[in-house]
Amino acid sequence: MTLTTAVSQAATRAATRARLFTPGPVEIPVRILRALSQVPPHHRTEVFRATFKRVTESMRELHRTQGELFLIGASGTGAMEAAVVNLLSPSDKALVIVGGKFGERWMNLLKAYGVAFEKIDVEWGHAVDPALVERTLKANPGISALFSTHSETSTGAIHDIETIAKITRPRGVKLVVDAITSLGIHPLPQDAWGVDVVVCGSQKGLMIPPGLASVSLAPFALSAFEKDGLPRFYFDLRKARKTAPLGETPWTPPVSLVLALEEALAMISEEGLDNVHLRHRRLALSMRAGAQALGFKLFAANPSHALTALYPPDGVDASAVVKRLRDVHGIVVAGGQDHLKGKIFRIGHMGCYDLGDVFTMMGALEECAGALGRPAKGGTEAAHHAWATA
Ligand SMILES: *Cc1c(COP(=O)(O)O)cnc(C)c1O
Repeated sequence: MTLTTAVSQAATRAATRARLFTPGPVEIPVRILRALSQVPPHHRTEVFRATFKRVTESMRELHRTQGELFLIGASGTGAMEAAVVNLLSPSDKALVIVGGKFGERWMNLLKAYGVAFEKIDVEWGHAVDPALVERTLKANPGISALFSTHSETSTGAIHDIETIAKITRPRGVKLVVDAITSLGIHPLPQDAWGVDVVVCGSQKGLMIPPGLASVSLAPFALSAFEKDGLPRFYFDLRKARKTAPLGETPWTPPVSLVLALEEALAMISEEGLDNVHLRHRRLALSMRAGAQALGFKLFAANPSHALTALYPPDGVDASAVVKRLRDVHGIVVAGGQDHLKGKIFRIGHMGCYDLGDVFTMMGALEECAGALGRPAKGGTEAAHHAWATA
């Protein structure tokens, strides 16, 4: 078989079975696909109201909060916008941590609503220094809310939210965290850590298609949404709060995604949240060890367990790796964004991945390294060792 034939066969196969290793949307497990195939009930029915209440309750438990959780029909960015418009007033001042595309998104949202803010620029791939957060809040006593990403998907780095919450909570500064690629991957016990608001989206650690997002308020943040803040309509959570006890939503919810989320939460609960966290830790450690054994270099100084951002071996173009993984192996990964385009690529491993997936990736990376002029061996062994000892 010629290489061209192999490539075209791989492309055909990829069309029927894409191996998604993207940092969102992620591969959807069969159990969830089955849940999605149900005939959706009408949302103004007893059966759906009961489901909606149950799913909201399970999500609240997943956040480890005694507060309130709202499911909204939107991508993750919608939940971010909901947090901004419900929490802030035009006269408020915010602090935003920017260490990648998603930190920038918080900043752009604040700009769009004309909210004054200070920002801490963090070198991409690094975690913010909590001492700098503390100094900035001391120097700006007018700041009422801090917006941060937890796992920064554009760089593969994670911020130390537990320590940051120890700084914001005693000061009464509201801490709003984007946990879109950390919920179900890293521990983030909302109440125990003292995080006021956590936002999440459906197509990452929750393993379902995009279109469902959540905003969760800790008990100590419950009053924050009742004031007349910024202009809002679709994302006015005061409306959602009124109808929530009945299992009703102000607008038509994405019914099928709610059914899918119920299945995803059942899967997480059957495995046990601690085990889910441990599996992601193992996935991350084994991906890193294996890739490094093959000559790839880690981009993030403080890496998240949701994804692995890698520099290719010296002299190899990151885009060539992305292309070859897709064309020859039917594996989809993500490239770098902005100034990292062509420099790094990102392997997502959040959701239903296991050691077999790591081996698949190591075999493919080994083939790519060889074909692109940097032959190397030992990725699988290094990955297995890291998995077994994590
Ligand atoms: C994916 C993602 C988002 C939201 O993106 P949407 O495309 O709106 O779902 C926000 N923050 C992080 C960290 C993400 O990974």
